[in-house]
Amino acid sequence: MPPHSPGAVSFVPALDMKRECLSQLAMGSAVHLTLVFREAFWREPGFGGTPGGLKHMLFLFSENPWFPTWWSKLPSTAPVLSSWCAGPRAQQYCGQPAAVLERKAVEALGAILGVAAEQVTGQLLASHVHDWQADPYCRGGYSYVMAGGAEQAQRQLAAAVAGTLFFAGEATDFHGHHATVHGAMASGYRAAAEILNSD
Ligand SMILES: Cc1cc2nc3c(=O)[nH]c(=O)nc-3n(C[C@H](O)[C@H](O)[C@H](O)COP(=O)(O)OP(=O)(O)OC[C@H]3O[C@@H](n4cnc5c(N)ncnc54)[C@H](O)[C@@H]3O)c2cc1C
Repeated sequence: MPPHSPGAVSFVPALDMKRECLSQLAMGSAVHLTLVFREAFWREPGFGGTPGGLKHMLFLFSENPWFPTWWSKLPSTAPVLSSWCAGPRAQQYCGQPAAVLERKAVEALGAILGVAAEQVTGQLLASHVHDWQADPYCRGGYSYVMAGGAEQAQRQLAAAVAGTLFFAGEATDFHGHHATVHGAMASGYRAAAEILNSD
């Protein structure tokens, strides 16, 4: 991301000591999509060829190339299904208009449930898409360490600079909890302790 573009953070002077560790870390892609329907049609008796329909469906895992993973709001019976697509598969979506993603999701859900995409569309009231990789303030879903980085890359990223700059955030967790909320929070406590203990 070029300097001064939305979301970009600049350090002056440049943090040359972080270049190596940053070259060993990467951000994974993730696209999250929610569909709101008129009715929870998958819960209707007989749906999917089963007497009770899919009324107990919580998660739906598939091999669909576009949106493979879905989940309902159970125990709430709200007519809402969410899906996500992560990793290299999600890169195909980067910067795509929400309408394109909605269409792909409807087709994927129809294929997984064995119903025509038009039937899914006919039930659709609203959709919401969040493309984490296109969000200038996130630029990805999760950090990960590339081959050769092991835990040293995260430890080096976490290291304070000149007793002045302190680093927190999930990518700086070096206890195996990067890419999680609890890893991010732990890194915040770690950085706060470093600040309190600094001269
Ligand atoms: C779809 C998805 C599902 C997830 N599910 C789970 C889960 O179930 N369990 C789990 O443990 N973790 C989950 N995670 C991971 C978890 O959300 C992250 O690891 C965690 O939120 C990272 O916290 P952070 O504080 O490091 O970064 P962030 O939460 O990204 O916080 C960084 C903040 O900095 C702000 N910011 C960025 N640039 C600037 C700027 N220039 N100026 C001012 N502010 C700026 C951003 O707006 C943001 O608020 C999920 C992540 C995604 C994307």
